[in-house]
Amino acid sequence: MYKIAIDGPSGSGKSTLAKRLSAHLGFVYVDTGALYRAVGLYVYRAGADPKSSEEVEPLLGKISVGIKYIDGEQKTMLNGEDVSKEIRLPDISMYASAVSALPAVRKFLLGTQKDIIRTNNVIMDGRDIGTVIMPDAHVKIFLISNNETRAMRRCEELLEKGVTTTYEEVLADIVKRDANDSSRAVAPLTPAEDAVFLDNSTFTQDETFATALEIIKNRIDI
Ligand code: C5P
Repeated sequence: MYKIAIDGPSGSGKSTLAKRLSAHLGFVYVDTGALYRAVGLYVYRAGADPKSSEEVEPLLGKISVGIKYIDGEQKTMLNGEDVSKEIRLPDISMYASAVSALPAVRKFLLGTQKDIIRTNNVIMDGRDIGTVIMPDAHVKIFLISNNETRAMRRCEELLEKGVTTTYEEVLADIVKRDANDSSRAVAPLTPAEDAVFLDNSTFTQDETFATALEIIKNRIDI
């Protein structure tokens, strides 16, 4: 089974790239951020403090997170409910970032991720895919772009989904999440030693795709 890991900060375009690559290569795409978002959503609905392991850990036993594919699109399921849309709300981004720093939550989602890898050629995107989830991935890409570009992209994405927000709010949210994700003790956002950096600040989506495909073709025979 082939494994491709794409890691990087929020808004660097990981999911856009990974979706396109998976369609091109016929691999299964797994958006691991959606799993953390589903846990974040449960904690939000339960009114618990997402930073408190005492409050979050007892809830994990009541949570079942899964993914299914409808017409090639990943749908994220929380206790049987399709929460794919709701998990994209800005509040839930912050909850996902907070719960993802808790070791119990990372352990809880490990099995789901490992199960998928065992049986499929995969492209996974996240923060710790090349370092923790698939340290033996055939290709590891660390996708980055500058803060302003990432904030602009997130704004457009949220606008398309009908979420009203401002550029300043989105930029602040991105900077805060970067800090949370990079500074946590467990599985922080950090490039694997053997990751290839791809800075797409000035790239179109087509250019990012073409560059990533080149990196992949240099490493695996497809
Ligand atoms: O990628 P996305 O922005 O949807 O991820 C939401 C949050 O989930 C991130 O801010 C990060 O804190 C967390 N996450 C993580 N490890 C992953 C994927 C996401 O900690 N592999």
